Amino acid sequence: GFKHPPVPDSLEGALGVQRIIAVASGKGGVGKSTTAVNLACAAASSLGLRVGILDADVFGPSVPILMNLASSGTPAIDKENRMLPLENYGVKCMSMGFLIAEQSAAVWRGPMVMGALGKMIRETKWHPLDVLFVDMPPGTGDAQISISQRLPLTGAVIVSTPQEIALADARRGVNMYSKVNTPILGFVENMSYYAPPGSEDDASARAYIFGKGGVKHTAEAMGVELLAEVPLDQRIRERSDEGRPIAVSDPESAAGRLYAAVARRL
Ligand code: ADP
Repeated sequence: GFKHPPVPDSLEGALGVQRIIAVASGKGGVGKSTTAVNLACAAASSLGLRVGILDADVFGPSVPILMNLASSGTPAIDKENRMLPLENYGVKCMSMGFLIAEQSAAVWRGPMVMGALGKMIRETKWHPLDVLFVDMPPGTGDAQISISQRLPLTGAVIVSTPQEIALADARRGVNMYSKVNTPILGFVENMSYYAPPGSEDDASARAYIFGKGGVKHTAEAMGVELLAEVPLDQRIRERSDEGRPIAVSDPESAAGRLYAAVARRL
């Protein structure tokens, strides 16, 4: 792996954050960013916590769109030369997407990515926060290990779909975070089943299109908690695309209640 500067002893104090929760996945496209953003919104709106979200998915930042901050400009700088997070739905957000054009990051190499992440971590005025969610880059490589070593993570939530191909990567994720002594807070199974519109609360209407119980079995075998089984729900996708996460735009929906229940347990 590449070298990175040592972690300052007082990083936690400097950040002024009580809990730092990584939202991770072994592979892309499983709904990691959707989960991170909805958990953050649920923690802020349903639990009344002071919440931030750090978009560490440098190569594919989703937070600007998901949080409807894509046209909000760049972060202001305070007197102490720190970036002020952009804020929506009571959640303070920092993302590479606020700082540079997406295409420029695509050709970055590891050390540049870590430099940029270090800036977003240390040179952002997060304080005061109860919880900071970190939307991790997908996968289990050097970047993920390095972030885990730099940030005093309270723990990691691993998002996976029920398919074996995703589960194999999720297991790798559990092993990687355990190796760097980051506690695994649990799995979120995403796209667990299809919930037809109007029948979200009717269990008999569920269609298990990616297989049933995949994450539950893996969780049991690995001694990891299964925090929630979130359905494939058209409204989750629509609200995400609109930049109005369902956890905050429809907290009483089945999905909204699920995200709030998970946030409460973290
Ligand atoms: P990742 O961060 O793992 O790459 P995203 O959160 O970007 O994945 O999700 C990938 C796509 O799937 C997005 O279009 C998102 O809106 C959609 N999606 C994620 N979770 C759900 C869900 N539970 N129901 C419907 N669509 C979802």
